[in-house]
Amino acid sequence: MKTDKKPLSIYLHIPFCVRKCNYCDFLSFPKPDDVQKRYLKALANEIRSCRDELSGYRIETVFIGGGTPSVADAPALAEVLKTLYETAEVAEDAEITIEVNPGTVEEEKLRIYREAGINRLSIGLQSADNEELACLGRIHTYETFLDTYGQAVKTGFTNINVDLMSAIPGQTMDSYVRTLEKVLALEPAPAHLSAYSLIIEEGTPFYEGVEGLPDEDTEREMYQITDVILKKNGYHRYEISNYAKDGYECRHNKVYWTRGEYLGFGIGAASLLQEKRFHNTCDLDEYMEKYKENRMDLTKDSCREDLEVLTTEDAMEEFMFLGLRLTCGVSLDEFTRIFKRSVAEVYPGLLEKLEKDGLIYLFPDVEKGEMRMALTDFGLDVSNRVMAEFLLKSDS
Ligand code: SF4
Repeated sequence: MKTDKKPLSIYLHIPFCVRKCNYCDFLSFPKPDDVQKRYLKALANEIRSCRDELSGYRIETVFIGGGTPSVADAPALAEVLKTLYETAEVAEDAEITIEVNPGTVEEEKLRIYREAGINRLSIGLQSADNEELACLGRIHTYETFLDTYGQAVKTGFTNINVDLMSAIPGQTMDSYVRTLEKVLALEPAPAHLSAYSLIIEEGTPFYEGVEGLPDEDTEREMYQITDVILKKNGYHRYEISNYAKDGYECRHNKVYWTRGEYLGFGIGAASLLQEKRFHNTCDLDEYMEKYKENRMDLTKDSCREDLEVLTTEDAMEEFMFLGLRLTCGVSLDEFTRIFKRSVAEVYPGLLEKLEKDGLIYLFPDVEKGEMRMALTDFGLDVSNRVMAEFLLKSDS
């Protein structure tokens, strides 16, 4: 039964990995089992400490991300979810996702996930080429992925995402297309595919130097061929890098892109609540010490770093940056409703210019009787350039 509580999404960060990949700058690292278990207890305590804050909300989506959440002990992880169900109202039809790496789950673990209410898997494949996987420093081969995928299907998961990567060192158009074809030939094919380009991040082994990166033109062609091949195979692109079969768009990520409210638990986890952005400490020991017991005495703000109250300008920029990632774009009427000023007033002349350059288009949302604005295919190709146009000068 639905209540009139406000919708909320929950992110749970599990920072553990078997070992670090060569391109990874996420907050993740290997740790022994006893540390992992202590961390999961702390996570449950953090959730309990937010009981009052959660009381006004109904949780619509949960995303267990990392790191590699699937390396953690499954019963202990199920306990964390149980704590969440006991502490907050979770919608009966909530989307509950866990990120899984090939080779870190077996049937029993997947069964525990399902019993704990997890109904969506996001499997990090990246490539079907074993040499490319080895270059990335991934812990698995394509064959390991096939095994994990098969077990997930056998356990009854129907909502499965597969993460793919383009612009990998040594990757060619041919090898990239072969990866797409292999994934599309899976039985059944995944309901959702994420296809991101490799980004070389500071502080990673790749940043120190890596050879064989595809050039920019090839990288762009890989992006374009993804769109062509996936659309031909029954997927629709609903975000710059995300494709889904009808009915399988990721509800959790859409909350981020539409600036819905979300609360993150665990180290480094980010939140957006009542126009405040903040994140938890990134220090594992500090976090585990803080939440080693059930700390109802902690005031909300004492646990949070970077408590940033967004200005109206920040919120307007975010509305545009995040919303324009979606192929359905943003509602111009909603912008006016939220900010009491129209897009034309805040960004004088900009829409006309971008429309003339073929980067955006305006269209009516017949159902709602509203006007929307979205990036064209060309605009999606050069999205960073378009987004930069929506930055507001501090004096505006
Ligand atoms: S598995 Fe994911 S989080 Fe872990 S090191 Fe590799 S890329 Fe990073």
